[in-house]
Amino acid sequence: METLRNFRAFVKKGDARSKESNNHAVIYTRVSTKEQAENNLSLDTQKKYCQQFAEKQKLIIRGYFGGTYESAQTDERREFKNMLAFVRKNSVSHIVVYSIDRFSRSGAGAIGIIAELSKKGILVRSVTQPTDPKTSMGSFYQNIQLVFSQYDNEQRRAKCITGMKERLSRGYWVGKAPLGYCHIHDANNKPVVVISEQGKLLQKSFLWKVHERLTNTEIARRLKALGLSISKQRLTEVFRNPFYCGIITHGLLSEPVMGSHEPLVSQEVFLKANQIVKKVPHDYKHQVVNDDLPLKRFVKCKQCGVPFTGYFVKNKGKHYYKCNNPHCKSNTSKDKLHDLFRQLLVNFRVDKKLIEPLKMQLKYVFEHFCKVDTSEYAVLRKRFCEIEQRIEKLKERFAIGELDKALYEQFMDKFSEEKESIAKTINSLNGGDDLASFTAYAEEVCKNLLLLWDQGNYEQKQRLQYLLFPEGLLYSKESNLFDLLGMNPICSDKRLSDYDTICSGT
Ligand SMILES: [Zn+2]
Repeated sequence: METLRNFRAFVKKGDARSKESNNHAVIYTRVSTKEQAENNLSLDTQKKYCQQFAEKQKLIIRGYFGGTYESAQTDERREFKNMLAFVRKNSVSHIVVYSIDRFSRSGAGAIGIIAELSKKGILVRSVTQPTDPKTSMGSFYQNIQLVFSQYDNEQRRAKCITGMKERLSRGYWVGKAPLGYCHIHDANNKPVVVISEQGKLLQKSFLWKVHERLTNTEIARRLKALGLSISKQRLTEVFRNPFYCGIITHGLLSEPVMGSHEPLVSQEVFLKANQIVKKVPHDYKHQVVNDDLPLKRFVKCKQCGVPFTGYFVKNKGKHYYKCNNPHCKSNTSKDKLHDLFRQLLVNFRVDKKLIEPLKMQLKYVFEHFCKVDTSEYAVLRKRFCEIEQRIEKLKERFAIGELDKALYEQFMDKFSEEKESIAKTINSLNGGDDLASFTAYAEEVCKNLLLLWDQGNYEQKQRLQYLLFPEGLLYSKESNLFDLLGMNPICSDKRLSDYDTICSGT
């Protein structure tokens, strides 16, 4: 015996706590809204039963945790973590729950946690399943309970998804309404989504894209002036979401369905905007606006079909176009290519018999835009006045010493920038507000497309080019000729044959 005593120092020390399991406990409650309604297992009821259980077992309650609904998942996870941290730190040996599925519904995950806790001498005790988890039978029973509650949870989730699918397939949106829409309850107290104030602004974005072919950056700038801050990436998402033309697509649906909500724009406008977005997928670098090279990308190399790009030769002080294919040597000076394009353009006029109907159409368009612009104008004027007032107030506060210089300058910069941006937009809306001069100008332009092209900036030139020749032009360096890849029918076929004769004549 004396010899054995000498070996005491070699006895392995287990976790100090697991050896001396104490009678300290925490109570953890959790409820799902559904169950609370059905079984009246409210948090209070759970708490009451847990307290009684603890009393009976002579446990000292050190704290209460949980008290959340399952739907508040992040809160729940946080509470659960706090509880685990507390028991580990404060040598608590018991976690009391109303039933074992209140502890967790994650099945195997929970079994793992319980096993780990148990190694440290911490036991999970259930009021309604009072088996002793210290015995293997009790632990087995507890594990079975956990696996069952996970199964039950998955069943409920499946049921919920079926409900969502069902609702979506009937054309009702589920979840958070997309930007530009908000949730309200209809006359029958059913939740529906309707267009919000922001939606009216997004509607304008679609029209700007289609009618003016603005870049997303420009659209975002205009929206900001009207009070809606949106990134151009987000705008791309908006343009790509068919919800805005009344169609619902969803991860839970295999096919698009007609939505029951009011669309922001027609399907036609939506598709058109997407065609434009696709053509200029991003405002990427080689699309950089260059007033000197309006034909780049529009003209393609006849030999390899690759779009032309442009460059500048410094020592000659001249611009050139060249085929973007690195193995192709096709290139030509800007002057030569522009002359050829002018020759082509001068022969095109809008068909005479289309002029009158066109004028009529212009009248509608004009009236439509006047209407749109007036409301836009009013919003802008209001915002302009607001910002001016803010600037005045800022100056005042600075003058009476309420603000220090740094803060004053910071806000002054911000407000001035906003003011300038709004002013710029207002200016872009002004002018050309007389219908007669508008149609007269349009008629003049129809007769002389070359004039329009010569006067326009890069974007206007490109628009005209694509309007007349939607597929662009092919250029052959050898023959110094364009091949037309089809053209807009507003210019008659006769024009096309004219061009052929002119070309063969030269
Ligand atoms: Zn080429």
